Amino acid sequence: MTNVAGHRGLLLVVSSPSGAGKTTLCNRLRAAFPRLGFSVSYTTRKPRKGEIDGVHYHFVDKATFAEMAAADEFAEYACVHGNNYGTSAKLVNAALSAGRDLLFDIDFQGGRHLKRKFADDIILVFILPPSLVELERRLRSRATDVEEVIARRLRVAREELRHYDEYDYVIVNDNLDRAFDALRAVYVSALHRRARQRVAAQAVLSGQQVLLIGTMGEGYRVAPAASFSVEPRDGGQEER
Ligand code: ADP
Ligand code: 5GP
Repeated sequence: MTNVAGHRGLLLVVSSPSGAGKTTLCNRLRAAFPRLGFSVSYTTRKPRKGEIDGVHYHFVDKATFAEMAAADEFAEYACVHGNNYGTSAKLVNAALSAGRDLLFDIDFQGGRHLKRKFADDIILVFILPPSLVELERRLRSRATDVEEVIARRLRVAREELRHYDEYDYVIVNDNLDRAFDALRAVYVSALHRRARQRVAAQAVLSGQQVLLIGTMGEGYRVAPAASFSVEPRDGGQEER
């Protein structure tokens, strides 16, 4: 049995103003789809309580970040809320060519850059809070940032919200379960786009068997099928 996914990985970008719930939603999606990788960004921001280097972010100093940017090691990078954040180019290229899907929790500048670079392989989702008042409540209830940081994040939230228009899908995160169902539906739909199913269709046509992987058919393998009683016609033209 050979693993012939035969398509490039899918890049799933999730953006929102800080506090709208994208980390929570991304974590749930990753738990539901273990084959979905996560793009761990590089940042000059200091770790929050509970954040682990290499898991949540690669925490680097400003000099290291600048060297990496100069050496073209980022697929995109941006300054967000006064800190630098960047996406590893190596990770993205490796995932694309290995047919591995990658989830990104990045801001609208990052989404815009990746869309330009990888237009055929990307889906962009914007998470909206139900209101600005609720956004503020969530930022405070998360209790991970000092007042000055919260105030700065709220100041730029309105500006960030305007960029919803550059995204393929917009999900209002009022009720977490409902928002998660919508995000999962977007990902599952993207997996079933025709371009990603060509190898499966060709395999069936050539008499092989397609074995779906994962509860939602996140991938597939192709294996020889038991013998088929009707020989395919040459050239595949069927009379009707
Ligand atoms: P972001 O990653 O967008 O900054 P988080 O995922 O950290 O946001 O969520 C911010 C806070 O809001 C967290 O405390 C989280 O538990 C909470 N939260 C997320 N979604 C909802 C929701 N639908 N209803 C109420 N609280 C939520
Ligand atoms: P936080 O400091 O709350 O973890 O993230 C702040 C913002 O930076 C969030 O909007 C997050 O999506 C964004 N971000 C995280 N990593 C990257 C990245 O690699 N590139 C870009 N452009 N934004 C990022």
